[in-house]
Amino acid sequence: QDKPADVEVNNKEFIKEGCGSVVAQHYNQLSEKGLAERKESRIFHMRNLNNWIKSRIIGNILDRIRKENGPNCRLNVLDLGCGKGGDLLKWERGNVHHVICADIAATSIEQCKERYEKMKHRSRPVFTAEFIAADCSKTNIQDKMKNPDLKLDLVSCQFAFHYSFESLPQAEQMLANVSSNLQPGGYFIGTTTDASDIMRRLGRDKDQGNRKFGNSIYSVEFPPETCLDPPPLFGAKYNFHLEEVVDCPEFLVHFPTFRKLASKYGLTLVQKTRFEEFIPQELERGKDLLVRMKALETFPPFSNQSTASPDVGDYSHAQEYLDSSATADGFRPKLGTLSKAEWEAVSLYLVYIFRKEDNNLER
Ligand code: SAM
Repeated sequence: QDKPADVEVNNKEFIKEGCGSVVAQHYNQLSEKGLAERKESRIFHMRNLNNWIKSRIIGNILDRIRKENGPNCRLNVLDLGCGKGGDLLKWERGNVHHVICADIAATSIEQCKERYEKMKHRSRPVFTAEFIAADCSKTNIQDKMKNPDLKLDLVSCQFAFHYSFESLPQAEQMLANVSSNLQPGGYFIGTTTDASDIMRRLGRDKDQGNRKFGNSIYSVEFPPETCLDPPPLFGAKYNFHLEEVVDCPEFLVHFPTFRKLASKYGLTLVQKTRFEEFIPQELERGKDLLVRMKALETFPPFSNQSTASPDVGDYSHAQEYLDSSATADGFRPKLGTLSKAEWEAVSLYLVYIFRKEDNNLER
């Protein structure tokens, strides 16, 4: 474990081991599945849809950065909580120059590196990359970067920021890692759970004394000590279970607190959008990609079966649906072969974009 030296300076009480090793262990032991196995998965459509969402977020922000800084600018990126490198292809497609991949799970980082090496062996030129195995909520990753002076254009933290809300010092260290490496005008983007929605869903069952909600593919369960009303701002631990993928502690990210803390680190909120709003917003411009990523079967009429297997053969009726749903008001995905259970899990998340304050420095 890395020593949380920087954090200790800020907060002497910060000595707890916390859940980091449990989280790292959990992700380290996850095996990589082949396509055939993934297709059999009850969350096949959800994974494709989440991937499409990330592609849209990443594609949009790279376009925006290029618009602001010129089409030929070299883009340096930090993929914070990169896991096994699920976004490497997105960085390749986005034509970035350099990617720093960081994650608490050392085995995942090794797998990420292997994936990158394989990409490099293909014919297309690929970005340069470096790999850091560290708890980014307890370590100053600048100390581990090849060039600590490198200023980044973008930090992307996909499905990972919530782990840092275990404590204030951890959330601060995470944000310090974002902000201190971003150049003014750079962006911090990510996806995380919507704490208000979690509390709303929990509230529905609270009268029965429940500390848990979910369905056949996911569940959120609070231990008695954090099942409080209101929950603590940091350390509001719950166990998140998602079929085949996740089974470990996470923490509520109270968004107003996140926003306030981020502003302390010079990061201003630009956008916060729940997935259920984001999807229809992006549907029009992103539908070709949706087809290519086979996330499309998520949109034809809803099967209501979490075990439905995808029919990837014929897209024509789905295309028709996409054309009409893109403009339909009060969009509800007809959920297609994306099961209701999957949609309930997808719709727990939100997208955020912060911008590092510009202090008029030249690039
Ligand atoms: N971003 C990847 C993606 O979208 O495919 C992986 C997402 S996975 C749900 C969450 C990742 O966050 C895991 O790889 C986990 O190891 C990483 N993580 C959790 N806590 C972390 C921390 N304190 N520092 C760095 N990475 C962390």
